[in-house]
Amino acid sequence: MEEWNSTNKLLEAKESLAKLLQEAQARAMDSLELNTMFRRKMDLLTQPFAEFLKNLDEYDKLDEEIKKHIVVVKTLPEYRMLLEKTANTATVEDTLAHENAHLNKAESLGVPVEGYAIIVSKNEKGFVYAPYAEYKMPTSWDQRRQIEANIQIANAPHEYGNRLSPTDEKRIEELKKLN
Ligand SMILES: [Zn+2]
Repeated sequence: MEEWNSTNKLLEAKESLAKLLQEAQARAMDSLELNTMFRRKMDLLTQPFAEFLKNLDEYDKLDEEIKKHIVVVKTLPEYRMLLEKTANTATVEDTLAHENAHLNKAESLGVPVEGYAIIVSKNEKGFVYAPYAEYKMPTSWDQRRQIEANIQIANAPHEYGNRLSPTDEKRIEELKKLN
């Protein structure tokens, strides 16, 4: 019975993931355009808090729009299923380890973790999937502490012997300038 249940749960998870993915694909926008929105969001986030508050409306709008293009799951088994549907098979294990390193570090620093994610967009060749780890920096932390934590989280795959992505490297570079 238990075995039947877990098989059934797995099937349910697969079906709901397929549905989430289809919805994101149906809404997919141009990769470069989405990238620009994403970078703008990151820039707003790394501003001094007083500046950030001035741009809160813009931030909320961006955040809401970007969310429509992200599929987030809570667990590694679900993330594996999602990657198996979207990523090159050779990179699935690497990506799992990489994003897990980001989130383990976030958790160990006391930063609330939202889940494992992929960003879905498209270009002239078809759909583009970018893996991504979602966490929410506590706004009650002072800026210095937030920057330090962001650097450590971005650098985490390195500690686990995994390569940093170009995005991670760029982010660390930008954060260090603020520190
Ligand atoms: Zn990374």
